[in-house]
Amino acid sequence: MDDEADDLADSPVEGPRTGAEAAPANDPPAQAVLRARRLCRVYRTGDTEVRALWEVDLDVARGEFIVLLGASGSGKSTLLNLLGGLDRPSSGELWFEDHCLSNADEDTLTRYRRAHVGFVFQFYNLIPSLTVAENVALVTDIADQPMTVDEALALVALMPRRDHFPSQLSGGEQQRVAIARAIAKRPQLLLCDEPTGALDYATGKRVLEVIARINQELGTTTVVITHNAAISGMADRVMRLVDGRIDRIDRPPRRLSPAELSW
Ligand code: ADP
Ligand code: MG
Repeated sequence: MDDEADDLADSPVEGPRTGAEAAPANDPPAQAVLRARRLCRVYRTGDTEVRALWEVDLDVARGEFIVLLGASGSGKSTLLNLLGGLDRPSSGELWFEDHCLSNADEDTLTRYRRAHVGFVFQFYNLIPSLTVAENVALVTDIADQPMTVDEALALVALMPRRDHFPSQLSGGEQQRVAIARAIAKRPQLLLCDEPTGALDYATGKRVLEVIARINQELGTTTVVITHNAAISGMADRVMRLVDGRIDRIDRPPRRLSPAELSW
């Protein structure tokens, strides 16, 4: 892991790392993997300005499991997309380890995503004409030090379905394939935007169990967006967004397993 600290990906990053020399506004905890300072994302359309995210300060520790709660429109996806390098802030600083993402160009962000970030969305985005194993292989074929397809499928308990097509799977199974695809490259970050939003209760729990297991067994730093406050019990820290700001942060006394949650 430490050898990755020098470059955003194993392939070299060309040119100077702009801004990497400048000290961030506050010294982060030593093992913070992500840190944001006064992070803002403002959308402008004509005369209207939407402050989707406003002056957010955030440190995410390595291996941490964070649940992001908040009403629809509170800025959860905006924050997750910034953390994952899918979007760039309007102002403020964002760091991944000692790399400044807020100054990074598109190519650098692409390398960052490819090397370090696994995404899981509400809808699974699997390729329908490819089998389960082939969908995961799309990632393992291009990653630097991936697990094997079968290792990834075993982690989500889908080995028996490896040669099936997405249309032959339930929603929960398809989401587990999407998780296998996200983690097969051994990302440092797993970012999940409403991963259980389209699933029924029991299936949602199963998917949460898989996410918790990856966090614990692989040590993957994990951020999960949800509408469902009961899911907070799984987290090391729970952050509530209100109108683009972190309104409060709670640290549950004990991390619960998904089996212990009910809603
Ligand atoms: P959440 O994920 O919490 O539902 P979002 O982060 O998607 O919220 O959105 C936060 C705010 O930013 C909302 O008011 C939303 O309408 C606005 N917003 C999001 N994306 C865009 C965009 N591309 N253009 C304009 N406004 C946007
Ligand atoms: Mg959203």
